[in-house]
Amino acid sequence: MFDKILIANRGEIALRILRACKELGISTVAVHSTADADAMHVRLADESVCIGPPQSKDSYLNIPALLAACEITGADAVHPGYGFLSENARFAEILGEHNLHFIGPKAEHIRLMGDKIEAKKTAKRLGIPVVPGSDGAVTPDQDALAIAKEIGFPVLVKAAAGGGGRGMKVAHTEADLQLALTTAANEAKSAFGDASVYLEKYLQKPRHIEIQVLGDGRGGAIHLGERDCSLQRRHQKVWEEGPSPVLDAAARAKIGNTVAKAMQELKYIGVGTIEFLYEDGEFYFIEMNTRIQVEHPVTEMITGIDLVLEQIRIAAGGDLPMSQDQVVINGHSIECRVNAENPVSFRPSPGKIQQYHPPGGLGVRIDSAVYQGYVIPPYYDSLVGKLIVHGKSRVECLMRLRRALDEMVVDGIETTLPLFRALVREPAIIDGDYHIHWLEQYLAGQKTD
Ligand code: ADP
Repeated sequence: MFDKILIANRGEIALRILRACKELGISTVAVHSTADADAMHVRLADESVCIGPPQSKDSYLNIPALLAACEITGADAVHPGYGFLSENARFAEILGEHNLHFIGPKAEHIRLMGDKIEAKKTAKRLGIPVVPGSDGAVTPDQDALAIAKEIGFPVLVKAAAGGGGRGMKVAHTEADLQLALTTAANEAKSAFGDASVYLEKYLQKPRHIEIQVLGDGRGGAIHLGERDCSLQRRHQKVWEEGPSPVLDAAARAKIGNTVAKAMQELKYIGVGTIEFLYEDGEFYFIEMNTRIQVEHPVTEMITGIDLVLEQIRIAAGGDLPMSQDQVVINGHSIECRVNAENPVSFRPSPGKIQQYHPPGGLGVRIDSAVYQGYVIPPYYDSLVGKLIVHGKSRVECLMRLRRALDEMVVDGIETTLPLFRALVREPAIIDGDYHIHWLEQYLAGQKTD
């Protein structure tokens, strides 16, 4: 097992990792920018190192500063959390070159899945169903229109290096295609430094359903069921739940086993998520995330497995915590991402939290790094915290969520709590009858279907 882990992240995920380390008896090193000197993860870690000024590129993304922090503190492993350097294959390699352990998959798998075109090819090869689309990148000398016609309009232009919903443009008709190709490529070039784009069939009313996997790197891999993340705004998840309201045990086992088998073949190590769109009873692979995800607590609540703790154990050479037939899905869980944003305009609302009262009681969990008097800095994402609720059934979970949301107080800044209080009372949400465009339609005041 590792002696000392450096947590290369901030906010709630840094705290989440810190908690797992403490339970495992591992010493912790927090790193922080000058804007985060008063952050909770800094206060609770055994040691902390300031790695630079507020801008992420100068601090949380600053690899030499992180290496120096490892050197100074004698850390033997680095946990990257999500975002920042978590899917940077080069970072994983550099750590290896310095005899430091990267808590995550092999660099080759990060690289493979980081290129969505390669990821899709690999998925196909491993027997995972994919969204119909172009065979690889669409190059200027190719007849994009002919490819799009073959797929059938509407089509989605996507960036090979995409992430966070950027570099994605829909072309509803032939006339839209050229503009969609150019804007997606330009956006991809400026966001990721890679202008390659590909085409995919644009699904009209799919759900986003993802499968959580855990691999030991030696050919063992299990799946831990699914999370339904269909409630999205600008392709960003807002509310996640598990199990999906539309999957039964047989459908779960079928897709889960397909994915687990693929991970066994890859000899994948650590936690990973295979994301699908789901429409008319069919799954279509869109991408794989080779890291812990924001919404991982949903799976923890319904399986009882501490994913971050297992991630660390496995990275240190440990075995899978159980076999596939020992995985039991118990009850229902929902997570709400409460952001420091105006609930109507979604304009960020950083600033000082004057009053903070997190909800409690049976089946209520808060993953957050804020406290009363804390000042949310303007430099990073606007997550205040995740409210995660568990119940024996979806109905009980919704009842509990309604109660917990009403109890929660975050004053001094604007938050998206009012949006969740409205959503949890919406008939379509109560019925579990929604798809990936539902929330945008609801927010635009349109008729949702
Ligand atoms: P990113 O890595 O940028 O998050 P993803 O490929 O994971 O991109 O897609 C993010 C979201 O975009 C999906 O959850 C879904 O809402 C939407 N999306 C992606 N591909 C398609 C598609 N082929 N048809 C319709 N919506 C899509």
